[in-house]
Amino acid sequence: MQRIDNYIAGDLRPAVGGEYLDNYEPATGAVYSLIADSDERDIETAVIAAQAAFPAWSAMPAEERFEVLMRIVSLIERDLDALALAESVDNGKTVALAKRLDIPRAASNFRFYATAAMHLANESHETTQAGAVQALNYTLRQPLGVVGCISPWNLPLYLFTWKIAPAIAVGCTVVAKPSEVTPMTAFMMSKLCIEAGLPPGVLNIVHGTGPKVGAPIVAHRDIKAISFTGGTKTGEDIARKAAPMFKKLSLELGGKNPNIIFADCDYEKALDETRRAAFANQGEICLCGSRIFVERPIYERFRDDFVASVGELKVGDPMSEDTDVGAIVSKQHFDKIMSYIALADEEGGRILTGGRPAHIEGRTAGGWFIEPTVIENLKHDCRTNHEEIFGPVATIMPFDTEEEVLEWANSVRYGLAATVWTENLSRAHRVASRLESGVVWVNCWLLRDLRTPFGGVKDSGVGREGGFEALRFFTEEKNVCVRIS
Ligand code: NAD
Repeated sequence: MQRIDNYIAGDLRPAVGGEYLDNYEPATGAVYSLIADSDERDIETAVIAAQAAFPAWSAMPAEERFEVLMRIVSLIERDLDALALAESVDNGKTVALAKRLDIPRAASNFRFYATAAMHLANESHETTQAGAVQALNYTLRQPLGVVGCISPWNLPLYLFTWKIAPAIAVGCTVVAKPSEVTPMTAFMMSKLCIEAGLPPGVLNIVHGTGPKVGAPIVAHRDIKAISFTGGTKTGEDIARKAAPMFKKLSLELGGKNPNIIFADCDYEKALDETRRAAFANQGEICLCGSRIFVERPIYERFRDDFVASVGELKVGDPMSEDTDVGAIVSKQHFDKIMSYIALADEEGGRILTGGRPAHIEGRTAGGWFIEPTVIENLKHDCRTNHEEIFGPVATIMPFDTEEEVLEWANSVRYGLAATVWTENLSRAHRVASRLESGVVWVNCWLLRDLRTPFGGVKDSGVGREGGFEALRFFTEEKNVCVRIS
């Protein structure tokens, strides 16, 4: 069976302890590969390798780092089909989605930050007194050193590279941990990094569980910053451990995102995109619009059309071209989603479509599939509407006024993303400005420009990724003040 090994100091190697964990294919429910079960000894070796690589890598001109990163881009693009297939097998998402979204975005992340790092400029400020320049200040942005990047399972290579690319582009060296649930494409990428000639130690990828690998990364004194994407509870744990060491933290956490549909919306567009926002990637995207609020005059029509259109989604083998909804990432997550459907029922919810496991015959008979589920008749403040389910489950509710829907939308502990559908320009801007959310989409969903800041408010996290924000995060700012008169 294939073994997924660590990438440390430029080599692929098993964990020091020599143990492996099972890695499952969600579509079949079977173990198909083994993951290095690393621990703090592997982290120690990785940190030493990253420290050794830092002086030369950080001193290399940005143009030369650009050349190396662009070779990685070419190799990811060359292997697009193989990486997309691997992502699908490992995660349960459809091959089509991995080919269209995940893998191209991994290449874009490296391309974007390879070029962006060449445009990162330092500022200078003149200090004047009595009309004359007294001092010149300039701000140096220097790479932090060794940094830690920890990523989740839902968009495996997409989010892993979203963290690693800015860190190494700006001159840091990295100890990174992909999710133990979906480690395969990170392993494949480590081979591409070797082929691209990335100097040994610049990127070290250590596989294994959160407690044995993630926690030692957070606890290591020589790791200067942690860029983390994952659940809010894990984020709390990381913040608690990192704060006494004054580490820089970027925490991209959970969401429970409102999708607000006003009666004056472009109806067909809102209907189509609402389905995509709720069920793309099996609803396993932190930005999914899982709480759908529809203005009362169009509520019944929209609800009925939406339910009919969700009923047309085909749940099936992620390998099949005509599958819309693939497998749920793990048995544990499958159980969690099903427990929320049961909770919705207890809370008085009416299941309009779905609500059951989907049984797919053939090769995928043992896989973890759930029918896309739409639930109505729930209060905005019940647990089903406040807790992150992170699966193919959406609730739908009518509202009467803008004030009311804003209060409901903002009533959760999360504040990651929100969507607003209206053709009324003033209302669009007004509602966008009042939503407690790091990202607001008006008349669209998941339209991303890599130059824009990305991140959440409230329990959805701290810090911003994207654009120059991420490059700045991985640097320390130093002001140099030179008196000239
Ligand atoms: P998770 O928090 O369980 O795991 C994320 C990563 O952290 C994994 O690599 C895991 O091994 C590691 N980890 C676990 N415990 C750790 C610890 N104590 N110390 C250090 N690392 C530890 O999250 P998940 O289940 O993999 O991902 C789903 C969650 O991610 C959802 O809540 C989703 O909303 C969130 N998410 C957020 C964003 C965003 O941009 N805000 C994007 C994608 C996913």
